[in-house]
Amino acid sequence: MTIARPYPRLTPENAFFWGSGKDGVLRFQRCGGCGHFLHPPSPRCPQCLGADIAIVPVSGRATVLARTVNQHQWHPAFPPPYLIALVEIEEAPYVRLTTRIVNCAPDEVAIGMRVRVVFEAQGPAWLPLFEPDRG
Ligand code: ZN
Repeated sequence: MTIARPYPRLTPENAFFWGSGKDGVLRFQRCGGCGHFLHPPSPRCPQCLGADIAIVPVSGRATVLARTVNQHQWHPAFPPPYLIALVEIEEAPYVRLTTRIVNCAPDEVAIGMRVRVVFEAQGPAWLPLFEPDRG
């Protein structure tokens, strides 16, 4: 039996982010006034309070800032162990995502490791996960 995995609640503000996996390109909001990247999505820039907000693509490359291996079965669809990481986006290291690192063993993942986005479809959303950037 396959147990459905939970997925994020989509809203008009965040639908672009959770839909980015459709074409495999990670996107964030960026302020047209000062260039600041926004995450989570917001109608105004927290730096300059500008409302000229655009959705822009990024490279999908990131760096592991922190990591932990979950050993507890919190949800029946997520058997442990799996690696949870905080990653910094290349274009804007202050933009951080809590994510999973996939396509490698948990003990391969080190702080400072370069990773790149891969998307996993889940319900109506594509989750931005990351794998080692071996390229
Ligand atoms: Zn701004």
